[in-house]
Amino acid sequence: MKLATKIIHAGAEPDPSTGAIMTPIFQTSTYVQEAPGKNKGYEYARSQNPTRKALEDALAIIENGKYALAFGSGVAATDSVMKLLNPGDEVIAANDMYGGSYRLFTKVWERYGIKFIMVNTGDVAAVDAAITAQTKLIWVETPTNPLMNITDIAAMAAIAKKVNALLCVDNTFASPYLQNPLDLGADIVMHSATKYLSGHSDVIQGALIMNDTDLREKLYFIQKSCGAVPGPMDCFLVLRGIKTLHVRMKQHCENGEKIARWLRQHPKVAKVYWPGFEDSAGYAVAKKQMRGFGGMISFELKDDSEKEVTRVLSSTHLFSLAESLGGVESLINHPASMTHASIPREERIKNGLSDGLIRLSVGIEDADDLIDDLNKAIG
Ligand SMILES: *Cc1c(COP(=O)(O)O)cnc(C)c1O
Repeated sequence: MKLATKIIHAGAEPDPSTGAIMTPIFQTSTYVQEAPGKNKGYEYARSQNPTRKALEDALAIIENGKYALAFGSGVAATDSVMKLLNPGDEVIAANDMYGGSYRLFTKVWERYGIKFIMVNTGDVAAVDAAITAQTKLIWVETPTNPLMNITDIAAMAAIAKKVNALLCVDNTFASPYLQNPLDLGADIVMHSATKYLSGHSDVIQGALIMNDTDLREKLYFIQKSCGAVPGPMDCFLVLRGIKTLHVRMKQHCENGEKIARWLRQHPKVAKVYWPGFEDSAGYAVAKKQMRGFGGMISFELKDDSEKEVTRVLSSTHLFSLAESLGGVESLINHPASMTHASIPREERIKNGLSDGLIRLSVGIEDADDLIDDLNKAIG
C-alpha cells in the first residue's frame, strides 16, 4: 500500500459498537469488568485506552514499524528511552539537537550516572571513535534542529550494532512522510507529535516506534509504570492530524524549497541552512535517505547585530514569532534566546549556532505571500 493510503486508513477501524467512522474519544479512567480479571483487554486507562491504541496502531503503520507507544510529550518519549539505561552507561548524542533534549540529558539524566558524549553525528568516523564498551545508545536527530545537519542513519545503525547499542532517531523534523529510520536500521524512532504529525499547533504529544518485541515490552512497561501517557482527546487530535500529513508535507516541502532558494540570493542574507541545497555538506546523504527536504530553514543576516536580528524577527506579519514548528501556519524563531536558550552560549557557538541565527517553520500558506512577508521584514 502506498503512503497516502496508509496515512488515511492506518489504525482506522470503524467503532464496533456504533459504526462511527472516526475513532471515539474514550474519555474514561477505568473499564467495568465482568468478573475479577475478566475484561475486554482494557483495565485502567494509564495502561490501555482505545483512542490511544488507534493512534499507536496508526503511528506504527506510517513509520513502517511493528509497535508504537504514545506519550504526553516529545520529551516524555525521550525520557522513557533514557529509562532503558543503567548508571555507568554511555550515550553518544548529536552535538546539534533540540535544546530540550540537551537539557533533559545533561541536567536530569547525568545526575543519575548516565554519561553523554556529544559528537557531530554527521561525521561517521567521529562517532566510530567515540564508541566504547559502555555505549548503550546512540541518539541522533536528522535533519538537526536548528542547523539542518544531516546524519547517515544506516551508518549509525552499523556502528551501534558493533557494540550492541541501540540507535534512536528523533524523526520530528522529517516526519514519516520524508524519512523512515526503522527501514535504515534504527531500533527506535522518536517523534514530537506536537509538530508535523499533529500539524495544527493545538496539542503536545510524543511517540516511540519500534520493531523489536522485547524492546516494545520494556518501553510499554516504562510507559505504564512511569505514566507519561497522553489523554484521549490529544490522541484523537494527533490521529486526525495524521490523516492530512502527506498533503501538508508536500506543501511544506514545496514552500520550503521556494523560500530557501529565494533567501539564498537575497543580498542581505549571509547564509541559509536547508538540506536541499546541492552544495550542502549533507546533501548526498539527505538525498539517499529522505524523500524531500521539508519546510524547516535557518538563516543568518549579513548584519547580524542584535538590533537588526531583533528588528527582522519583530517585522514579519504572516510568520508569527513563536517557538515550535510543523503547523500549517508559518513561524519565525530565534533559537539562541528561545528554543535553544537552555544550551550554554559557549556550547552553542562551538557547534555553529550563532546568536544571529533565525529559524523558519514554513507553513502551507501561499509561498509568494510568505516571500513577500520576509522581503518586507528583511528590507
Ligand atoms: C519539539 C521537539 C522535541 C520535544 O517535543 P515536545 O513535544 O515539545 O516535548 C524533540 N525533538 C525535536 C526535534 C523537537 O522539535
